[in-house]
Amino acid sequence: MTAPALELTDAALAYGDRVLWSGLNLSVEPGEFIAVLGPNGSGKTSLLRAILGLQHISGTVRVAGEPVHQGNEHVGYVPQHRSSASAFAIRGRDLVRLGIDGNHWGPGRRNAAVESRVDELLEQVGASSYADVPMSLLSGGEQQRLRIAQAIANRPALLLCDEPLVSLDIPHQQAVVQLISDQGRNGTATLFITHELNPVLPYCDRVLYLVEGSFQLGTVDEVMNDETLSRLYGAPIEVIRRGDRIVVLGTDVAAGDTHHQHCHPGEEH
Ligand code: ADP
Repeated sequence: MTAPALELTDAALAYGDRVLWSGLNLSVEPGEFIAVLGPNGSGKTSLLRAILGLQHISGTVRVAGEPVHQGNEHVGYVPQHRSSASAFAIRGRDLVRLGIDGNHWGPGRRNAAVESRVDELLEQVGASSYADVPMSLLSGGEQQRLRIAQAIANRPALLLCDEPLVSLDIPHQQAVVQLISDQGRNGTATLFITHELNPVLPYCDRVLYLVEGSFQLGTVDEVMNDETLSRLYGAPIEVIRRGDRIVVLGTDVAAGDTHHQHCHPGEEH
């Protein structure tokens, strides 16, 4: 039997006295796509950092049946986009090559096998035509494709994505979601942090909704309803289904980050 891509047992995250979540039990099957939602500060990024072995949490975390550790080849990571031009003087091709574990390919990372794998990845994400352009000159959507190519380079069991849709327009959001969900066919499971559930809704197997101090895990229907979200936020929340879209309304929510889940005018088309 294949080990779960990710297994959290009685996991808890606290900074000093401040408990962000506790009692989290989560077993993610190969190929599963889980959206991680919640307002800023609810511990979403910290959860990814724990799985990357960068953040201590209590309980146990296993990736593909093994305890977590930094530099785990079973984990691919698409970090939050930060527009720091100086960090992107490198070309897309170089960024993708950095995702390839040299140990698999024998000595000399720049050998032919590595280069051919880089080409294959560039092709897969549709980035071949701008692979030699410095990252800083590329659009957000183009950079995101290259980051995904880097993250999937070692065919990871688990892909961790930290708000990969931020600052992308709707067509690019769709392309990025499609690219990431495609990895599920190879058995790669995904944890996908997003403020916008609607772009991932068609691919979403389950939702993990964190609100400071608490969480809810379940199918979209189990989590995205008035009763569950009102309980989680401790305030009246209304969840409206309109066609294949979900709109979340609530005074506190609207004032916070989840207002991004409201319909954006441009998304209606
Ligand atoms: P999210 O991704 O949901 O916005 P984070 O995981 O980034 O949440 O952070 C959760 C909260 O924990 C934030 O309020 C943040 O300031 C705080 N925090 C993050 N890292 C640390 C740390 N190393 N020490 C203390 N507090 C931290």
